[in-house]
Amino acid sequence: MQAEVHKKNNMIAISEENFLEEAFEGCPFCGSRAIKDIGNIYPSPDINIYTDFLNLIEKTLSDRPLPDIKLYTCNICHIGFFNPQPTEKFLKEFYTGYDIGDNRRKKTDPRRFASHIAKYLGNLKPRETFRILDFGGGDGAVSRCLGQHLLSSGIAMKIDISVVDYNTITDRSEHSISQYSFETLDLIPLSDEFDLVIASAILEHIKNPKQIISLLLQKMKKQGIFYARTPYSFPFYKGFKKLGLTFGMPYPAHLFDMGSYFWSDLLKTMNLSADLRMKRSHTSLVHAEFSKNPLLNILSHLVKLPSYLMGKWYPFSGGWEVVVERNAG
Ligand SMILES: [Zn+2]
Repeated sequence: MQAEVHKKNNMIAISEENFLEEAFEGCPFCGSRAIKDIGNIYPSPDINIYTDFLNLIEKTLSDRPLPDIKLYTCNICHIGFFNPQPTEKFLKEFYTGYDIGDNRRKKTDPRRFASHIAKYLGNLKPRETFRILDFGGGDGAVSRCLGQHLLSSGIAMKIDISVVDYNTITDRSEHSISQYSFETLDLIPLSDEFDLVIASAILEHIKNPKQIISLLLQKMKKQGIFYARTPYSFPFYKGFKKLGLTFGMPYPAHLFDMGSYFWSDLLKTMNLSADLRMKRSHTSLVHAEFSKNPLLNILSHLVKLPSYLMGKWYPFSGGWEVVVERNAG
């Protein structure tokens, strides 16, 4: 759960007076009023993001007291959320001005992650072009690795990748793989549909996950696949709290916590069960690679081990992943 912030330009410059929104009175995902306060965030010496954020908002508050940032869970859709949340303007400057060190993609070899996702694509029929939408995909390295895999296995003749990220990079085209960059999802043409939609370690960072998940699911072709990976750390927070210990949270980088109960109910919550099918809902891939960090790899596997027996009832996994498929009919 460690997060590091490397300031690219020494200091982010934000002119806005207020960095925080009004607190939510109901669930920001499903709108229910049945939400539960499970505790406060504590500044943690190893989580610099939150400390930096507190220092930043303290300067703008002058004589007003620092607000409590709390953790809530929704009893209806089971999302976890921080309350209140930073403004959109703050987040945009935060992500373009900061290099977020907890981006797990950087720690995970893109080839390893690409072959992990490839396992969930099923038996694909060969096609002319395989289209990937990589939401929050950074430089698109994972999608390109996946594209190379699909080309070499003869599934597709061409790969077309659309990456959506605040930090857009130059479009590129090489060896039958074309990659296009978009700053926001709404810049992708409405009629565009994809064989695979990826939202890995991104949905927890955005303010409107319901709207984004809905748009991403609409972008899937028939029999298309949606892959998402999110943190599931609120159960750790609750467990630590019961033991009288504090558990640091990378707020404001993380705004939401989406675990087994949230994902298991998602299609029902969004009324999409007729068109879509939850193919997999499971603890996520262990990040630490055995060759690079054997102890961390073994510990991560041990922590996640009971989930193979207990499935969605096991709360201490740290991360969750799902694969959703659009029905053929
Ligand atoms: Zn809810």
